[in-house]
Amino acid sequence: MADDTERREGNVFSDGPKKVLLFPDRIRRWRDERPFEPVVVEIHPSERCNHRCPDCQSRWILGDRRVSELSRRGQFMDLTILNGLWERPPEGIIISGQTGEPLMHPKIGELLLILEKRSMPYVMITNGGRMTRNLAEILVRSSRGIRVSLDGYDLASFRSTHGVGKNEWKRVLQGIELLVEARRGAGVSRKSCLIGLGYLVGPATKDGMERVTCLASGLGVDYIHFRPFHFTDVTVDDQIDSCLAYARTDFSVLISGQKYHLMMDGNWMNDRPYSICHGAFFYSMIDPHGDIYVCCHHVGNERAKVGSLREVLWSDWLDSPVRRESIRKFGLTRCVPLCRLNALNRVLQALLDGQRLDPPTDSLVLLHRMFL
Ligand code: SF4
Ligand code: SF4
Repeated sequence: MADDTERREGNVFSDGPKKVLLFPDRIRRWRDERPFEPVVVEIHPSERCNHRCPDCQSRWILGDRRVSELSRRGQFMDLTILNGLWERPPEGIIISGQTGEPLMHPKIGELLLILEKRSMPYVMITNGGRMTRNLAEILVRSSRGIRVSLDGYDLASFRSTHGVGKNEWKRVLQGIELLVEARRGAGVSRKSCLIGLGYLVGPATKDGMERVTCLASGLGVDYIHFRPFHFTDVTVDDQIDSCLAYARTDFSVLISGQKYHLMMDGNWMNDRPYSICHGAFFYSMIDPHGDIYVCCHHVGNERAKVGSLREVLWSDWLDSPVRRESIRKFGLTRCVPLCRLNALNRVLQALLDGQRLDPPTDSLVLLHRMFL
């Protein structure tokens, strides 16, 4: 059931790992060890955050103290550092954060307008608390989707997962409403810009799945998406049917099917049928300093830094053997179980092992092919 739930309904990341098969020229170049632009680049504009999530994923690499410092006094990206990116752009951009919330960046609207002007497909992942009417209007007319990480169904549950109180809970709900209203007001279709909510499932949040689904369905968003907290093996099969009862033609209930599938297989903590992160050639991650990391989980880990836009032009980095060597050399040290590129790595390893895999054909998946 897990796999089917996600594939049937779709969001911009659905069928993510298999979407790489839609880029055969890049796959050829990867196999031949020739340079190529990543399919997707994730940009983190801000180290600062307005929330204080006790299980913020950055704590795994950076530790509690460093995360607290950065989330209060960290850096905002100098947007000019991205200038070189547009000479050899990826197919799509993900705006997100590691210790930080993208909407905290004082010039986030400028970044969105740059992407809009370049007709660059992009999505934003946000906690939603700093949403304004103006930003919501830009986002719904120019992004392919916005996912608000809600992770709570009422004030108490939100406080325990996001570490902030009543005013912020209200602001997040208002932010979601601003997005829904802005899309309605602009006459933008659901297909053009999907608005959804994320909910991390762990021992303390699992019982709230139905309640958050009910809340999401009433807020007018397009979907609620359930995925596991890192390092937990809490499955959702005994909860998902009551959530699916809320599904309608204009509201989907999604789960990270691949992750739950692997979880139920058993050895999910250590089972990696690949020895380097192949996916890091198809996905790059740029932090607020302009440093490029092997993936979002390792931001701040010097060993996982594979380049820096402060030291090298994007175009030169793409062509440089340093890119390939540093991804290779990194190996898989301190990699998070069921990580961001785990499923993509499995697909790429299967290709290396000689398996024949068919690319996805669903029209919505093709539309969002760049969001691996
Ligand atoms: S909102 Fe995101 S970046 Fe901010 S503390 Fe929570 S998990 Fe970390
Ligand atoms: S955590 Fe996953 S995505 Fe990150 S480097 Fe390791 S294998 Fe790649």
